[in-house]
Formats: sequence, C-alpha cells, structure tokens
Amino acid sequence: MPLPIDPYQYTLKSPVSCCGTGLHSGRTVNLTIKPAPVDNGIRFFRSDLAPGKHIKAHLDKVVDTRLATTLGDHSLRVSTTEHLMAALQGYGIDNADIELDSGEIPIMDGSAEPFFEMMKKTGKKKQNGLRKILRITKTITYNDGDKTISISPYNGFKITGEIAFDDDIIQTQKYTINLNTDRFDKEIARARTFGYVEQVEELWANGLALGGTLENVIAIHWNRKSVLNEDGLRFEDEFIRHKVLDLIGDLALLGCSVLGHVNAYKTGHTQHFAFMQALAESPESWEIVKMKKNGAYSVLEQVMSTTKAAGDILGPLFHYKPAMLPTSA
Ligand SMILES: [Zn+2]
Repeated sequence: MPLPIDPYQYTLKSPVSCCGTGLHSGRTVNLTIKPAPVDNGIRFFRSDLAPGKHIKAHLDKVVDTRLATTLGDHSLRVSTTEHLMAALQGYGIDNADIELDSGEIPIMDGSAEPFFEMMKKTGKKKQNGLRKILRITKTITYNDGDKTISISPYNGFKITGEIAFDDDIIQTQKYTINLNTDRFDKEIARARTFGYVEQVEELWANGLALGGTLENVIAIHWNRKSVLNEDGLRFEDEFIRHKVLDLIGDLALLGCSVLGHVNAYKTGHTQHFAFMQALAESPESWEIVKMKKNGAYSVLEQVMSTTKAAGDILGPLFHYKPAMLPTSA
C-alpha cells in the first residue's frame, strides 16, 4: 500500500511577496518567499540586519514561546512564525527561503490564508529529491497540568485539537483533520487568531499587540457571548480551527513530514515545544523512513531509526536545549 504522503519534495515556482504589520511590534514589514533547492528546508533571512545570515526553521532555533513562536540564532530573531509555517506545511512546501526586513512576520488578517493564497497563485514545483518521514511507532504523551498532547501511530498525518473555555461563545470545541492541501485550504487556512478584548487592552498597555486591530484579531466581547468584529466569525468553531492551525505551524518545525496522529487538549506554543522535546528524547517511539519510487508506487526504502542517518535528519532535535526557553507567561 502506498503511503498517504507525496514522496517528493516541493518548492515554489517563483518568489512571492507581501507587505503587512507585525502584530506585536506594530511595524510595517515586507516579506518575500523564494524557491530553494532540495534539502534546503525553510530558512529565514533578515535583510535589514544581516542579509547573508539565516535562521533555520527548526525546533532547535526556538527561543521564545510566549504569545507567539520566536526563532533565533545568535543575535538574529524572527517572531510570530506559526501562521506562515502552517501555510507552508498546508501547501506542502519543503524548501523555501523567506526574507523579511523586520523582526516579526506580518499578521495579515490573523490567519494563514493570505500566505496560502499568494503561494497558490504562483504554484509549487516538484523537485528531484525525496522526503524523509518521521513515522511514529509508539504513543508518546506530554502532560502539563490539565493540558495534554500526544502522538500515536497512524498511516497519515492526522491532527485533533480540543479546547475548553469557561464562557458562552467558545465553550468546548474539538476539531480533527487528516492533513492535506485541499482540506487545509478549505477548513483551516482562514481561521483567525483570537483574544478576549480585555486581554488585548492589557497587551496594548504593555506595549504589545500594537498592530492588533479588528482587521486581524477576533476580539471576544466582555459579555463572552459575541465578538466585536462586525462580520462575526468565519466558522462557528473558528477558535479551535485556529488552534489547530497554530499546532500545524509549530509541528512544521520538526523539519520533516510526519506519519502519526497528534491529539492536543488545551495546549499552546509552550506545550507544543515541550512535547516535541519529549518526542526527540524517545527514539524508541519513532523511526525515520525514506521514500523511493517503485513503478507507479512509492514504497518505504529503509528504516533508519537509530542510525547516523536518522541523526542527520533530526539531528538538531537532539541538541535542543529546553533551558533556552523562558518560563511561559
Ligand atoms: Zn495563531
């Protein structure tokens, strides 16, 4: 049986650009996504600081998970990477170089759709290189109080998210998706980030969320029954869909495709990274597989779980230092 993952790596057909505002900095930022060669992965460049230097979009470059995911390497920083990473993952892009002239990815409309749409417009290109896949063979669970996240063996990449809020508008919401480009496009890409209106005010008072407006954040009314945004919600359960979007964007920092079912309950960026750390430290629960073509089918070429090859692929995972993370807010 062929695996439910396209065995080839992909990049964009041509560069695409957009301009927007950083959610927290309020600064204008220009962003370009450029095609990149096989095995390049996703890399970020700060054209305003050090044009030749990059930060790899990988778990071991995560330096902050409060409010948003921030990547860093030496003095370079790029923050709020999750929606763009989700769009790249959702569209199936393995290799791209992303250039920006400020420290924060633009928030656009608060969802992944603007990034997804601009990539769809130019299209993606199949490359002459095969993907490496992290296949889960045993369930791994991470708990943090009542928040929990696990991954179990599954012949596909399935994500289930659940949230439970003590209010009328969100309450308990659960969403499951077998991730592919079409379903990401229709069900997840448009879901926007959200917050309680008094939380947004508190962030403003602390000099954060300076770019946050009703154009890019769902603001939940003080009464907890409605939203302040004139056009209302894009989906009745837009909140959990956005949580799944964030999770997809964070998991993309594993740097390879995944065969497994992720189950997340009440989690945020901080738990996502602690979970990936637990995953990295449990090599008995997964293996790295590589695809090859066999006639019309893609088959597993070999299993490389504890070999040097596995270390080369997931290498940065093993060097990940959780101590780099500040305590979560
Ligand atoms: Zn988000």
